[in-house]
Amino acid sequence: TPPVEEREFAAETRQLLDLMVHSIYSNKDSFLRELISNASDALDKVRLEAYRDKDLGADTSDLHIELEPDTDGRTLTLRDNGIGMSRDEVVDLIGTVAKSGTGELRRKLAEAKDAAGSPDLIGQFGIGFYSTFMVADKVTLLTRKAGEATGTRWESDGGGSYTVESVPDVAQGTQVTLHLKPVDEEDNLHDYADPATLRSLVKKYSDFISWPIRMEVTRTRTVEPAEEGGEETTETVVETDTLNSMKALWARPRDEVSDEEYAEFYRHVSHAWDEPAEVISVNAEGTFEYQALLFIPSQAPFDLFMRDSRHGVQLYVKRVFIMDDCDELMPEYLRFVKGVVDAADLSLNVSREILQQDRQIRAIRRRLTKKVISAIKDLRGSDPEKYLSVWTQFGRVLKEGLVSDPDNRDALLAVASFDTTHSADEQTSLQDYVSRMKPGQSSIYFLTGESRAQIENSPHMEAFRAKGYEVLLLSDPIDEMWTSAGADFEGTPFQSIAKGEVDLDDDAGKTDDEKKAAEQEKEERRKEFADLLSWLEQTLGESVSQVRLSTRLTESPACVVGDTFSFSPQLEKLYRASGQ
Ligand code: ADP
Ligand code: MG
Repeated sequence: TPPVEEREFAAETRQLLDLMVHSIYSNKDSFLRELISNASDALDKVRLEAYRDKDLGADTSDLHIELEPDTDGRTLTLRDNGIGMSRDEVVDLIGTVAKSGTGELRRKLAEAKDAAGSPDLIGQFGIGFYSTFMVADKVTLLTRKAGEATGTRWESDGGGSYTVESVPDVAQGTQVTLHLKPVDEEDNLHDYADPATLRSLVKKYSDFISWPIRMEVTRTRTVEPAEEGGEETTETVVETDTLNSMKALWARPRDEVSDEEYAEFYRHVSHAWDEPAEVISVNAEGTFEYQALLFIPSQAPFDLFMRDSRHGVQLYVKRVFIMDDCDELMPEYLRFVKGVVDAADLSLNVSREILQQDRQIRAIRRRLTKKVISAIKDLRGSDPEKYLSVWTQFGRVLKEGLVSDPDNRDALLAVASFDTTHSADEQTSLQDYVSRMKPGQSSIYFLTGESRAQIENSPHMEAFRAKGYEVLLLSDPIDEMWTSAGADFEGTPFQSIAKGEVDLDDDAGKTDDEKKAAEQEKEERRKEFADLLSWLEQTLGESVSQVRLSTRLTESPACVVGDTFSFSPQLEKLYRASGQ
């Protein structure tokens, strides 16, 4: 390898850096939280690696984070003795950003081009390491991976490129040196070389970090005179302070933790920059002892519908970090939930394979699933506005559970909201739908389609509209799936208005004689049109299985109806698209 290699940033990375360099995001302090968060992850990893691989040759005797401000040189160095990175990892992890959401990010960046929406965008996306360029005009990273001999130096001024080189004699772990921009209080650019500033930022953002965050401080002390009547003198001492309390947030009683502390912890575990919409804490005692601290984000991440999205729920065993994104703790349809589960009775050696079989994990998952669903349900009562935003962000994902988790289908239907002909802009709960059902109506009517507008224009809607029946307008692809799984809501079945015979001659309230008369009239009409119907059946041949008279239509002359048990056109499309 050449001594110093210069490389270009990928296009979207450069765009993102550009936003950082030009300081669009107002909370510049966030960079420190991001660096500490990365250092803390690196320490978690080296502890676990060293425990599992005794031959790793990692030094884990005094794992910690260190801040070293240099007031005169205007730099800030943050050091950890964690897992570190190999040269390839530096290029991969630091040289690229946002692997999974890249396409989406690029699109949004293009939209946001010098628009006021950019700060929001950054908050939504969460910018880890690159946030350093909000406060620094040059960043130098020096790292050595635990167990490897050679280190790597990376440097960039946040422009189009960066340099990497291999270097000998680097301490295990990572150190990042920021060459700070001039202080500009008006632009929220504080003095990050000032120990007092750093101390308060660590307290505010990173107090719960479980590794000591240390800083050397120089103090001047008065020394009492040795003998009575003597002179008081002063001496200068250098002391190492630990700036954070290191208390695990999930182990603290809920009323002792502030919303702000929860929010910062949420940002740490989720690698996001938004606020949690809801905090759920569980302290389980008994057969399986565990603590859980879960968050429902307020913003859906870009990669919600990409299967490789990461950073879900972390698993700890007795305060020791075991893994990120522990799928076994949450069903797939709750993949947007972030947080921590700390189990007391698992081995530190536990692997994903073991977890899949583990009874305790299954029990935890069952309980937490119910907890999350009921938290959303509670929100609906206590804070309808917040409920609505959660449903808007995650409803589509939650509805996957109607198909994949029959045990919780009822609970999920009770938290769901749907578009409805009852209102042009507000969704309805099923509870409310049922309470508005007409006398004699025994099903929840729905129609699926590609969009609300398309469904509303369907000829199937005509009779229902004319007779004033409320119809749910379901336009998410997943709606096809769960409605054809034969769901009911508290005993009321769902009925597609595009399938089978829907009898809208509401018989309720009619006398037997009237019913008989109506039946007779139908029979007569059937005779009257018999020739037409059989001609139509012959002419259309294989394309239809039956042609019949209908009470569905008021304006259109004819419409196509599915069998009660047939696939709807949308479901057919869905299956065809997925190659089945
Ligand atoms: P994120 O933390 O969300 O993955 P970052 O931009 O903060 O995104 O960091 C990118 C990656 O770089 C991390 O996932 C990690 O693999 C690596 N990294 C960053 N800082 C460190 C560090 N101090 N020690 C080891 N690896 C690090
Ligand atoms: Mg990070």
